[in-house]
Amino acid sequence: MQASRYPMVSAETAIETILSMTPVLDPEEVSLQAAIGRVLAETVIAQDDMPPFAASAVDGYALRVDDGLAPRRVLTEIIAGATTETPVTSGTASRIMTGAPVPAGADAVIMVEQTNESDGFVQIDVVPRNGDNVYPRGLDITNGQTVLAEGTNLGAAELGLLATVGRTRVSVYRRPVVAILSTGDELIEPDEPLRAGSIRDSNRYALFGAIQEAGGVPLSIGKVHDDEAAQEALIRVGLNQADVVLTSGGVSVGSRDLIKPILARIGTIHFGRIAFKPGKPTTFATVDTKLVFGLPGFPVSSLVSFEVFVRPALQRMQGRHHVHRPVVQAIIEHSLTPSADRTEFQRARVRWSQGRLVAAATGAQRSSRLLSLVGANALLRIPPGSETITAGSFVEAHLVGELLDEG
Ligand code: AMP
Ligand code: MG
Repeated sequence: MQASRYPMVSAETAIETILSMTPVLDPEEVSLQAAIGRVLAETVIAQDDMPPFAASAVDGYALRVDDGLAPRRVLTEIIAGATTETPVTSGTASRIMTGAPVPAGADAVIMVEQTNESDGFVQIDVVPRNGDNVYPRGLDITNGQTVLAEGTNLGAAELGLLATVGRTRVSVYRRPVVAILSTGDELIEPDEPLRAGSIRDSNRYALFGAIQEAGGVPLSIGKVHDDEAAQEALIRVGLNQADVVLTSGGVSVGSRDLIKPILARIGTIHFGRIAFKPGKPTTFATVDTKLVFGLPGFPVSSLVSFEVFVRPALQRMQGRHHVHRPVVQAIIEHSLTPSADRTEFQRARVRWSQGRLVAAATGAQRSSRLLSLVGANALLRIPPGSETITAGSFVEAHLVGELLDEG
């Protein structure tokens, strides 16, 4: 083994370097049905008032306040979607349904539960006040109002709002296409029989899912032997078809670790070693405007490196303003031993317990043990040091999944 010739950078510097070279992708127009989870690339301004007319908020009677408690003669019935030419005049009222336009002359609606109608007259139980149960025109949205700003994440409410203002298509940032290539002579397909020395290629599937979870479009380039020409050819296939290329394996200092030399030859390596555990040899390069991440082969290292270094870049490319996970302080349930020289991201479960956030690591943290990521909803950021972190201390937890609630 030879020492890496790449200087060690901190995880923070690595993330800054990546984001400084990550472009926001061009906008594209999509239908509302396809817009969930996307990021708005335009500012949306209402072109009408909402409601577009003064509308009744209840089923009841539209009437004039200045008639007080006097009985009113019922003129007509106005249902939602209909209009009437008949104005409400002194001593009259019209039956009205929720959402129907309040007729001319009426200045309040009394809900049906507070009325009695017989022989064509309605008696009301409460003294009406001006504007009772009337939604004035433009109450919710006024013509010309900015309803959604550029950079808004589109969820269900935002899609409803777009439809409310009459939009069926919307401009959103394009999703990044991310190519994945597994390297290693030992790799077999998951459904092949195990042979002596072989390992199932799990990284390609895990990364495929991680890319989708991060809003990217995964493109599998397959797996390749530890052969420099073959690896370079497939990296070039990825560069031609994708915005980002991820490789797995082959970035350490072993004799068959060929990714760094290839990337140095066809592009520019910005860092090749991070003071980070698990995933020290994670490598970042650009080839023209495309990003290439050389992720380590160990399954935990590749997925945690993806989470910490690749995911923020994919978020940025989709136009998200906030690219990082929420960070909370959690109480660690057991003692932890920090790494001597690297910032470690330990996999953990964080739960809300009796008014506090409590964290517990997910068992052995070896970088080969994918089970340490199963069920994890947080990465505990443990700075390097020599002192044991005692149970009950606060640790920084990056929430990567749903918070668990145990009462
Ligand atoms: P490498 O980074 O290429 O030295 O790989 C380190 C170790 O990670 C290998 O010895 C394998 O055990 C494992 N590994 C590499 N690639 C994969 C993969 N695609 N899926 C699962 N495990 C892998
Ligand atoms: Mg390898």
